[in-house]
Parts: sequence; structure tokens; C-alpha cells
Amino acid sequence: MKVTLIASTHMDWVVLPLEEPYSNEFLDAFGGVTNRMGNTTEQWMKQDEDDSDADVLAEFAGRACYQSFHKPNPSTAANDDYIANIIFQGHESVLEHASATFYVIGVSRALTHELIRHRHLSYSEMSQRFVDLENTTPVFPPAIDQADAEEWVTAENAYSSALEDYKYLVELLEAKGFTRKQAREAARAVMPNATETRIVVTGNMRAWRDVIKKRFHVAADAEIREFAGEVLSQLRTIAPNTFQDFPEEPFA
Ligand SMILES: Cc1cc2nc3c(=O)[nH]c(=O)nc-3n(C[C@H](O)[C@H](O)[C@H](O)COP(=O)(O)OP(=O)(O)OC[C@H]3O[C@@H](n4cnc5c(N)ncnc54)[C@H](O)[C@@H]3O)c2cc1C
Repeated sequence: MKVTLIASTHMDWVVLPLEEPYSNEFLDAFGGVTNRMGNTTEQWMKQDEDDSDADVLAEFAGRACYQSFHKPNPSTAANDDYIANIIFQGHESVLEHASATFYVIGVSRALTHELIRHRHLSYSEMSQRFVDLENTTPVFPPAIDQADAEEWVTAENAYSSALEDYKYLVELLEAKGFTRKQAREAARAVMPNATETRIVVTGNMRAWRDVIKKRFHVAADAEIREFAGEVLSQLRTIAPNTFQDFPEEPFA
């Protein structure tokens, strides 16, 4: 399994449309801001320089609701405290503004069948009608990951046999005049859950939180649990405060 973060939210500080009473003079009083169209606006919002764009965007959205950019409440002035309070209050809609996209390869069709049940994520998955499955490598679940163990050999034999049948079916159907796409779409019927697939998946932070709660869970399937744990650890690098309440070990 390879899960690669390929896109995530970036804030365009220079175009922040801060208007009166958030004038340069007003902001000056709260952070030494001298030019609201310049980098200093970022310094004002990101009072901790380690705050991430995704986390600060959520705070910005929340502050836009009450026009509280001047951070009147000291207990929520810091970004981690602000987001902790948002989560505590259940006002998670502000977490929907930042998003992250992953390119996932080396996962089984069983995993993506479960993943795509989550309706708030967006997907683009490798087509089994267009892409030849002949050269794919099976993705066995973690319980069958020891090469040479009897269960691995059994699974490998079953997969190889299905793959041979797949290739033969493509041949037979093409010989009968079906197009390559028609032949592959029919022949894939004999391919197992272990068939490798690839998927681009995008979600906003609220949606990711929901998916991770369900799939980074002891009750979840082992492969998707590993996937969710990997996604969580990468999301923590771009939105640590948004996931500050999540455990290091799977939810129980
Ligand atoms: C451990 C585990 C075992 C599972 N086993 C099975 C199984 O055996 N068979 C099976 O079919 N599925 C199974 N699932 C899938 C599960 O039923 C859900 O489809 C999946 O987890 C997606 O979550 P969700 O339904 O909360 O919806 P999501 O699409 O992830 O949506 C997130 C939330 O948005 C809201 N929402 C989304 N759509 C609607 C809507 N139309 N109306 C109202 N509210 C909405 C709900 O609050 C929902 O919880 C399993 C999931 C897990 C985690």
C-alpha cells in the first residue's frame, strides 16, 4: 500500500479581503500588522508560526462568522484551542473548508469497495474496463502477508488461477468479435477481491475525520484500518490541530 498526499489546502494570504473595522490600523493593535495585503497578515492570523494553513483556514472561517478576527477571547486565541473548542461545540462545518487529496496504489478492490461507501469523499478509481489486469499484483490482507506461509501460497494459487481464466476469457471474447473494452469488462467478473486497484481520493477535513473515526477502528477491516491510519498520520502533518483529539492507536 502506498498512500501519497498529492494536494492540500494552501491559503492565499495576500488576497485576504479584510475590511473595516479590520483596517491596517486596527490590525496594528493586535499583531503589529502594517500591510494587510502583505505577509504580515499571515503573521497576525498565524500567531504560532507552526500553525498550518488548513488549521488556520478553519479558524478564519469560524472568526468570519462572528467577525472576531481580533481574537477577543484569550482562551481560544491560539489556533489549537480555537479548533478544540470548535470540535467540542460540534461546529465542525468550519472544518469543511480545507481539504486533502491522496493518490493510493497497491490496495485491494475489497478496500476501495468499502472506502467508496463514504459519500462525502470524492473518488477517481482505475477502470477495470480500460486497464488490463494481466500485470496487476494481488493485494492480500495483512493476515495473509507472509510469503511462503501456507495461507499465502493458497491465496497466491487462487489468484494466479483466476488471472489465467481472466486472460483466457479476454482472448475468447475478442476472438468472438467483442472489443477489447467489452472483453475486459466481462472477463473481470472472475477476478477476486485481492485485485490491485488505484484511486485518487479527496476529502475535506470534516469528512476525513468521520471516515477515520469509522475505519481507524478496531472493528474495521485490517487493510482499510491500515489505510486510515496512514491517512491520519499524513493529515496530522498538514492539519495537526484538526486531528488533535484523535488517538495514536485505532479507536476502540
Ligand atoms: C466496521 C464496519 C463494518 C461495516 N460493515 C458493513 C456491512 O456489512 N455491510 C454494508 O453494507 N456496509 C457496511 N459498512 C459500511 C457502513 O454501513 C457505511 O456505509 C459506511 O461506514 C459509510 O458511513 P456512513 O453510512 O456513516 O456514511 P457516509 O457516506 O460516510 O456519510 C457520513 C455521514 O453523513 C451523513 N449522511 C450521509 N449520507 C446521508 C443520507 N443520505 N442521509 C442522511 N445522512 C447522511 C450521516 O451522518 C453519515 O454518518 C461497515 C462499516 C464499518 C466501519
